[in-house]
Amino acid sequence: MNISVSISNLGLMPIYGPFIGGTFRDSAPNGTFPAIDPATGEHLADVARCGAAEVDEAVRAARAAFPAWKATSVEVRSALLLKLADAIERDLERLTIIDTLDVGRARSEVRGDHLKAISQFRYFAGAILTYEDYGRPIPNGYFVARREPIGVCGQIIPWNVPAIMAAFKLAPALAAGNTVVLKPDENASLSTMELARHIAEIFPPGVVNIVPGYGHEAGAALTAHPGVSKLSFTGSGEIGRIISHAGADRLVPVSLELGGKGANIVFPDIEDVDAVVDNALVASMYCNGQSCLAGSRLFLHDSLYDDFMHCLSVAAKRLTIGAPMNETTRIGCLVSEKQGQRVLGYIDAGKKEGAGLVVGGGRKSVAGHEFGYFIEPTVFEVRNEMRIAQEEIFGPVLSVVRWKDYETMIQEANGTVYGLSAGVYTSSIATAMDAANRLEAGSIWINQFSNLATGVPFGGVKESGHGSEHCRETLNLYTHVKAVTFQGRVAAPWYAV
Ligand code: ADP
Repeated sequence: MNISVSISNLGLMPIYGPFIGGTFRDSAPNGTFPAIDPATGEHLADVARCGAAEVDEAVRAARAAFPAWKATSVEVRSALLLKLADAIERDLERLTIIDTLDVGRARSEVRGDHLKAISQFRYFAGAILTYEDYGRPIPNGYFVARREPIGVCGQIIPWNVPAIMAAFKLAPALAAGNTVVLKPDENASLSTMELARHIAEIFPPGVVNIVPGYGHEAGAALTAHPGVSKLSFTGSGEIGRIISHAGADRLVPVSLELGGKGANIVFPDIEDVDAVVDNALVASMYCNGQSCLAGSRLFLHDSLYDDFMHCLSVAAKRLTIGAPMNETTRIGCLVSEKQGQRVLGYIDAGKKEGAGLVVGGGRKSVAGHEFGYFIEPTVFEVRNEMRIAQEEIFGPVLSVVRWKDYETMIQEANGTVYGLSAGVYTSSIATAMDAANRLEAGSIWINQFSNLATGVPFGGVKESGHGSEHCRETLNLYTHVKAVTFQGRVAAPWYAV
C-alpha cells in the first residue's frame, strides 16, 4: 500500500484545533504539535497544543450545556449514543487506517479497537435505559434514591488504544447525563479528533469538548479547573497520583485505571498446550505489549515447563513483525522513539540482572519503515523479584517464572504493586476457583486471557487504580445519589417524634 497516497485520501484536517461548543476552533495560541506516523516518521497533521485558556473555554461550554443535557430523557441520550456507534461503524475503515498510522500498531488490532468502541457506545445506550432509581416505603411515606449526573467530567486518556479509551470514558459519562471535557494523549490524538467530527453532527454543542495537548499543560489545567466535578484518568501510576492529588485538593471524585503486571498461570493439568501458548502470546504481545492488562508474567508449572517453553519460543518467532498497515502483521511498531528506547532499556536491564533470554531481544528493521521501533517478541526466564518481572515495561516482553509449589506461586503472582489482570489455565474447576479467590486482581480470566465480553467489569485493585469500567456499574462512577423522601402531609420533625 502506498502510504503517502492513502494519507492524502483520508480526509484528515491539516490542523485539529480544540473542539469546543460543537465546533473546531482554528488552533490554540500556544501553537500546535505534529502528529507523526511512528513507523515512518511521516507528518500526518498538526494538533492544537491547548493550554489553560482553551481548557477554561471548554469547561465553560460543558457547564453551559449541562442543565439541558441532564434534563434530556434517557431515551434521547440512548438514541444519540446509538447514532454515534452507527457513525463509527460506517467510518470504520477510515478511522482504523488513521489510528494505525498514528499509533503504529497492527491494522487488524486497531480495527478491533474501533469495534470495541462501537460496542461500548451501544452497551451504554442500552444500560442507561434500565439504570433505574430505587426506593421503598418508609413510615407514612416513601423514599426514592435518584441517580443524578455529577456535572462536567474531566477525562484524560493514554495513547495505547485511543479508540477504546475514548469510548470507555465518553459512553458511560454521556449516558448518565454528564457533559465532558476530554483530553486525548499527545502521541495519539487523531482518532479522537476525528471522533469529534462525528460527535459534532450528533450531540448538542458543548456536551462533548475535546482539548488535545500535553499532559503538563492541557491535562494539568483540566484536573485543576474548579468547574470540573469529576475526574477520570487512564494512564501511568505516576500521573494517576498527580490526578488523585488534584482531585483531593478540590474534593471531587476520581476514578483511575493505571498500570499492571498481570500474572498468567499455567497449571499442570492443561489439556491443550497450543491453545494456552496462543493465550500466553496474545496476553503479552497484543498491542505490542503496550497494554495495562497485559499478562506480562507467565507462571509455568515445572512439570510442563520445558515442552511449553519450546512451543512458546517457536510460536513467538512466528509472529509476523511488519508494516502496521499490512493485514497480516501481528507486531507493529511502538508508539514513539521514547517508548522504543524505554523497552530496549528494560531488555538490557533483564540481561544485566541475569534473566535468561529465550527468544527475541532486539530491534528489527522493517523495509520502508526504518524510522519505527519494531521490537521482536521477547521472552525471558526470570525470577519474580527481578525488575523486568516487577515493573510495567509496556513492550513485547514476557517474563516467565517456573513454579512448583502452589502457595509460593500464589504469593509471587500477588507479589507486585499492581492488581489489574490475571489468567488461569486448568482443567479443574476447583483449582480455578481457588486461584480466582486468592489472586489480587480486578479481572481473573479463566481459560481465556482478556475475556472482555461487553459488560464484563474492568478495573484494578492495589496500585492499578479503582473504579470498574466497561460495565453497568460504571454508571455509578458518573452519578451521585440524591435521596428524596416524601411524607403524605407535613409531619413533626423526626427528632420530636
Ligand atoms: P503513559 O505512561 O501511558 O504515557 P501517562 O500517564 O504519561 O501515560 O499519560 C496518560 C495521559 O495523562 C496523557 O493524556 C498525558 O498527556 C496525561 N498527563 C501527563 N501528565 C499529566 C499531568 N501532569 N496532568 C494531567 N494529565 C497528564
